[in-house]
Amino acid sequence: MSNHHVTNTTHPNAGSPGPGAEPDEHPYDLIVVGAGIAGLAAALTGVSGLAGVTGTTDGAGRRGPVQPPRILVLDAHPAGGRARTSEQAGFLHNVGPHAMYRSGALAALLARHGVEVSGGEPASGAAIMVRDGQGHPMRLSPGSMLRTSLLTPGERLRLLALFATVQRAKPAQLVGTSVDDWLAPYPRRVRQFADMLIRVSSYTDAPDVFDAGAAVAQLQLAIGPGVQYLDGGWQSIVAGCLDVLAAAGVDVRTDEETLTVRSVDRSPLVSVTTSNTTHTAHSVVIAGGGPETAERLTGATVRGLDRITPPVTASTLDLALATARPALAFALDAPLYLSAHAPAARLAPEGHGLVSLMRYHAPGADAGDPAVRRAELRAFARHVGIGERGDEREVLHERYLHRMVVTHGAPTASGGGLAGRPAVDALGLPGVYLAGDWVGAEGLLADAAAASGIAAARAAAQRCASITG
Ligand SMILES: Cc1cc2nc3c(=O)[nH]c(=O)nc-3n(C[C@H](O)[C@H](O)[C@H](O)COP(=O)(O)OP(=O)(O)OC[C@H]3O[C@@H](n4cnc5c(N)ncnc54)[C@H](O)[C@@H]3O)c2cc1C
Repeated sequence: MSNHHVTNTTHPNAGSPGPGAEPDEHPYDLIVVGAGIAGLAAALTGVSGLAGVTGTTDGAGRRGPVQPPRILVLDAHPAGGRARTSEQAGFLHNVGPHAMYRSGALAALLARHGVEVSGGEPASGAAIMVRDGQGHPMRLSPGSMLRTSLLTPGERLRLLALFATVQRAKPAQLVGTSVDDWLAPYPRRVRQFADMLIRVSSYTDAPDVFDAGAAVAQLQLAIGPGVQYLDGGWQSIVAGCLDVLAAAGVDVRTDEETLTVRSVDRSPLVSVTTSNTTHTAHSVVIAGGGPETAERLTGATVRGLDRITPPVTASTLDLALATARPALAFALDAPLYLSAHAPAARLAPEGHGLVSLMRYHAPGADAGDPAVRRAELRAFARHVGIGERGDEREVLHERYLHRMVVTHGAPTASGGGLAGRPAVDALGLPGVYLAGDWVGAEGLLADAAAASGIAAARAAAQRCASITG
């Protein structure tokens, strides 16, 4: 992992008065609140997008000569948000199972900015399909579908037809239809396969409201170029982005909580009050996780929240194993998933394995009793032979997370799918933009966070050009 550069004392304002102080005389071109994937994407895009359009302006908006962009990134915690990775006894634990879509917005962002990550693919052999408590080995290939004992001959043909439909489908034509309505013509046991694949690719278990256009677009990403598990965990993305930002002179300050984001009277500037001081900027991107953070910081209301689901959550269990083994399992009649992330990616000491399990919850749903959830995930691990016959010695340690927010809002059919999610300017405040996995018209999960971070920084660059130009 690289030694990235995060400061908290070098800015000219260091030592200036705390919250409530007068805004400084040297506004930033862009302040980004939150250094998760969305905030890092906004800052990276700001570096290139603001180049050439920035100049010094004083508190009254008077313009000086063109200069490199001045960008400040603030986070209340260490950088990375839900993309952080923690180490325990040589095992690297992401915040639950994390896979990067090879052709998603995040991978494209990293490639564009020269952030190199490496990794491997999920186990390619037979997966275990679990139904009625029984495991059945099966590959997700047409040949295996035509042979599986899980379906009748007629159902197998319908599953194959559904697969072909997904590959050919134009997602835009399905926008406005729920997953349940889209799958209604198929037999129940065929729908179970489709629901399982949609769950595992979107991490969303809400077929009654989830938009089929968004679901199919995501399935196409999963079936096509597929996903990658990252060596060193998702922290490698964070570290790589921080290195690029440091080289570009971006000021990244962690452990500095933003308290308010407000327009400055009689000025195009926005003021950001933090636990340390007050900063001003031409634009601010709020990438603080969910919409409630943006509303709390600004006192404004995010428009369009009724078009997305409440936060989608999951319970996750990592099992650090004494032996390396490929494993992949899906439940057809329950929202459960298991995959060996190591040895596919370098996340465990040599010869060891790391298996991640997940239980998806319906949007807004209670995660239930932690002990029950954990036992359910442990029981699911037995389908791939972990903990079988009471032999627990293989598990060196476990890491359980009870209720993690996977996305702060999934696109709904009634809300118009991805295009119905709140836009980057949905706060309606000049110079204040939103980014996160619930914002904008592109992608799901971390890809949505990256895409909206990019869009928010582009909007900020346009505003900067209009103010300083
Ligand atoms: C269990 C799990 C599994 C997942 N698996 C995948 C996957 O396989 N593939 C995928 O693409 N995505 C996955 N995701 C989703 C992905 O992790 C998120 O979409 C993405 O990391 C969100 O990034 P973000 O920047 O929008 O938000 P966050 O990562 O939540 O970052 C927000 C940041 O803002 C900071 N902040 C908040 N308030 C303030 C404040 N007032 N002042 C300063 N800083 C503040 C926080 O400290 C945090 O660092 C998964 C998520 C979970 C929980």
